[in-house]
Amino acid sequence: MLNAQVHDFLQQRLADRIRQSEFKSERFRDNGTIMSGLICPECGDKTAWCYSKEPWSINCNRLNQCGARTKTLDIFPDLIQKIEQEYKPTKEDPNAPATAYLKMRGLNGSLAGVKYIYRGNIRGTGSGGVMFVICNGATGKQIENGRLFNSPPGQGKTHNIGSTSGIFWIHPTLKYNPDKETYVVEGIIDALSLIELGFQAIAVLSAGQDPTKLDLKPFPKLVLAFDRDEAGRRALKKWKAAFPDSGAIMPLRGDWNDLLTSLPRDQAITYFQEKKPEMKLQAALALAQSGNEYADLFFDFYNKSPGLFEFDECYFFANVKKIKKETVVITSCVSNFTLSVGHYELDTTNQTEPENRYYLNITPQKGQPTACSVTAHELSAPTTLTEMFLRRIRGWWSGDRPASLALVRKIVEAGAPVVRQLQITGYGPISACYVFDNFLIKPKGNCIKPNKHGFFEIEFKNYLRPAGHKTINPARGKSAKEIWVLIFRTWGSRGAAAVAWIVGSWFVNQVKLAIGFFPFLSFFNDPATGKSFLTRILNTCQALNEEGLPMSQVNTAKGEIRKLAQRSGLFKALLEANNAEKTRFNFESILPLYNSNSLQVSALKSNDNRTKDLPFLAALLFVQNTEPFRTRAQRERVISLKFNKEDVTPETGQAFKELMAVPIEQFAHFFVEVMAFRQTIEANWQEGFAQAKTDLWEAIPDNRLCDNHALVLAFHRLLCQIIGVDYNLQPYIEKIGRQKFIDCSSRREDVSDHFFDILLNLDEPKEESTPTISNCLEIKDNDLFINVPESLKLIGRLGYKFNVQLKDLHDSLQVKIYNEN
Ligand SMILES: [Zn+2]
Repeated sequence: MLNAQVHDFLQQRLADRIRQSEFKSERFRDNGTIMSGLICPECGDKTAWCYSKEPWSINCNRLNQCGARTKTLDIFPDLIQKIEQEYKPTKEDPNAPATAYLKMRGLNGSLAGVKYIYRGNIRGTGSGGVMFVICNGATGKQIENGRLFNSPPGQGKTHNIGSTSGIFWIHPTLKYNPDKETYVVEGIIDALSLIELGFQAIAVLSAGQDPTKLDLKPFPKLVLAFDRDEAGRRALKKWKAAFPDSGAIMPLRGDWNDLLTSLPRDQAITYFQEKKPEMKLQAALALAQSGNEYADLFFDFYNKSPGLFEFDECYFFANVKKIKKETVVITSCVSNFTLSVGHYELDTTNQTEPENRYYLNITPQKGQPTACSVTAHELSAPTTLTEMFLRRIRGWWSGDRPASLALVRKIVEAGAPVVRQLQITGYGPISACYVFDNFLIKPKGNCIKPNKHGFFEIEFKNYLRPAGHKTINPARGKSAKEIWVLIFRTWGSRGAAAVAWIVGSWFVNQVKLAIGFFPFLSFFNDPATGKSFLTRILNTCQALNEEGLPMSQVNTAKGEIRKLAQRSGLFKALLEANNAEKTRFNFESILPLYNSNSLQVSALKSNDNRTKDLPFLAALLFVQNTEPFRTRAQRERVISLKFNKEDVTPETGQAFKELMAVPIEQFAHFFVEVMAFRQTIEANWQEGFAQAKTDLWEAIPDNRLCDNHALVLAFHRLLCQIIGVDYNLQPYIEKIGRQKFIDCSSRREDVSDHFFDILLNLDEPKEESTPTISNCLEIKDNDLFINVPESLKLIGRLGYKFNVQLKDLHDSLQVKIYNEN
């Protein structure tokens, strides 16, 4: 049997957990008795506190406004979820997980002599549990009754081996005193909780137990003490009928273990004794024969109306009125259903007009519960409420204005979790999580799956709902290293550079915040070298099943690209459009996206005409045969990877085939595997970047070009460490950086060269009416003025074909346009 040390150890762990949690404010102090300066999980106030040695709850200090006592076991459910991993059964102690679980439930001295065992994977649920061993006095057979540590959604937590009918549990070593009260509860943990507090209790094991089959003569002073829920109320009625002389109480919140695990033991005992009259009232209310009786009992105890209350699976509303100097409680039934709040949903699509929706679980008196969402408008008035319930569940609501307000207040103040609807897939600057349809990467790099409603719990009662753009559900298979090797075998160093850049693109927000830019990437040159296929694979490596967006569809002039991106901390590919549409794409307008730091608050504000401006939080990859970047400003912001036909060999073809055979779900797991190290990457990329700049400067002696290429090299080196690859990419990065340096330094022939070529070689026109070359060109104060329209007219008049867009010519000439009209 385990000693008290383990008990203390578990409470120590709970305390440590609070000390490291987000509920610690900057004013946190721990004097060994009390931890103060904690953040109330309910209202956010920073003066909450808890006991250092028995930290069962975080207690709000704003007693009149909030006063919440939040159970720490509820805030850190993983302490119990991981109990089987952390306290593994051993040869010496095969029941270690069960013991740890019971200790974590606050049970200690009461466990002396209690027979229990640990069973793993109960009912194939994957969860183990603690099973109490009970001997059936009549048959001499042993049965087991217990509960799962973590019951899956929709599955009961109780588990039995053998029938519990006619059997109840008594503590094997406790001497029951017949002159003292004995509490009758349903579960053994509830009974142990009361025994832990110094009372005597027995457990009847099942709410369905037939009281007449049990021999309870040894316990003449019975007090029925069932849970405060529907099953408990029903059990209470049944037992009260069988034992009319027994007393009855009900816990004020939850069950008796909740009482034990929300206060230090001494205070829990005091609380129990002080609140006993109120607990008796709760039992009396559960036993009331009618809504009227309920309201009268309530009024007699508290001297006030219960207002809206639940009775017989319906809502009742009671008003206190003075009639002829006499106080009368007037009660009426106002619905044929009850409800609870599943969650609140906060839609912040429009930043200035956030909208809340209410997700209710409505249980009709007869029939199946229905989950539905309700708008603020539907809750706003008695008539809209009546119509809403008719519409959603064919239920009726006949509450007047005060009753309706009470119901709405109940809904609004239910303290249900808040779910925030996201608009963007990928990195959320507010939550610092990467959110996809099927998974979420938390700030520490761990991957979590959505709950059954499709949303992610990132903190206690704080949920995110993904944007709803379909993403790939990652599956294990090929490791990140194996995928990297296949890409490398197919595309060599350019493949490695591309992978390094995309990993960097996942941190584009963090990078821009720190150094103010992130380079574009470009795949170019020969067709049929697998540029599109590589683009597709890189997309699957960030869990997106798509190739990219044809540039023609991107109306850059209107800033539409920001909306099209709708992703963050990921890259978006822009693919070459066919010739006819090429000209619509304006590279000048996307140049600022190299820098634009969209994490600035101003980008999140919407303007007066209420259109929302989605900030651009992604990185851009261009894929084409001929690079369309003409000006130096365009070229120097792009890292260019050249794909050549002669690099395609039978060996690369083989690797290509192997890549084709990998299911996309396994590529998506590349993201999960790499992002498990996001803390490492976030902590180390800047240092790696500085080193790479030093290493590359000799080959690329230009600040901007060296920075761009160094970033890729830095992410390559980090990635190598993480996935276990050893490959020196520096020579290749030096080569492409050097080439870019040369390209940017020399000016390539372009449209403007062609323009001057024709214009300056024209024969002077013979007729006087046509413009002459001197009409087209003029030098004033060392500036050359070009009359572009006249020049084109002249070129045309003389029979030359010069098919370029005016816009391209202007860009290429890099002129200021004067318009004298
Ligand atoms: Zn509070």
